[in-house]
Amino acid sequence: MTVASEKEIETLRGCGRRLAEVLASVKQAARSGVSTKELDKLAEGLILSSGGEPIFKGYKTKLDPRPYPGSLCVSVNDEVVHGIPTEKRILKEGDIVGLDIGMRWPAFAKASAGKPQGLVTDMAETIGIGKVSPKAEKIMRATKESLELGIRMLAPGVRLGDLGYTIQEHLERNGYGVIRDLSGHGVGRELHEDPFVPNFGKPGTGPKIREGMVIAIEPMATEGDWHLILDKDGWTLKTSDGKLAAHFEHTVLITKDGAEVLTQL
Ligand code: MG
Repeated sequence: MTVASEKEIETLRGCGRRLAEVLASVKQAARSGVSTKELDKLAEGLILSSGGEPIFKGYKTKLDPRPYPGSLCVSVNDEVVHGIPTEKRILKEGDIVGLDIGMRWPAFAKASAGKPQGLVTDMAETIGIGKVSPKAEKIMRATKESLELGIRMLAPGVRLGDLGYTIQEHLERNGYGVIRDLSGHGVGRELHEDPFVPNFGKPGTGPKIREGMVIAIEPMATEGDWHLILDKDGWTLKTSDGKLAAHFEHTVLITKDGAEVLTQL
């Protein structure tokens, strides 16, 4: 979306801050012995008690007719994104876990046209469970850095190819694969809006970023080959070679001379 009023900006800030609070609590609960389903239940309860609506739940894609069953995506080790929480998946020491979450806030507020009035933010972080290997630390750190570098270079007039190049260059310099099949996206009124915000690109190409745009930037890096395979559950995307992946995401508002991270405490 492109924001149209100060009220919309305030709503996005409120949504993003609450979402960051929810994710902070989920991160604290993510430890060895906990199932991914328990984290999902916690996330859903916290979203609802903060006055929001879990926007991932029931989401459908063209890949598979089954709607997404959770409020949180929990992607462990070689799972890149969209890991479905289950009781069987128990986190253990040394795992790295991508936690991806989104919500509409305030929930169920209807405008006169019958469209939902609350606005949507989306974020993700990959964390280690207990002590993780140096190579796991390294892929998490480099992916987080690529997101931070991307956000720092945003301003009106910057092209999406410049942003993609910045993220890609950092990840590839560190020896990582950059996923091509998934990208960041516009967000705000709905979870996924135009434009595509790829994590790769050529400088000086692509649409220009404008003041007031709201976008989710989400680099996904792989230790090996960046090609993905879809699990038989219809959702979980894994690396094709079983190597690690990491994912970080923020929703940002493009300002007069930079970008404001909305999904932060
Ligand atoms: Mg996203």
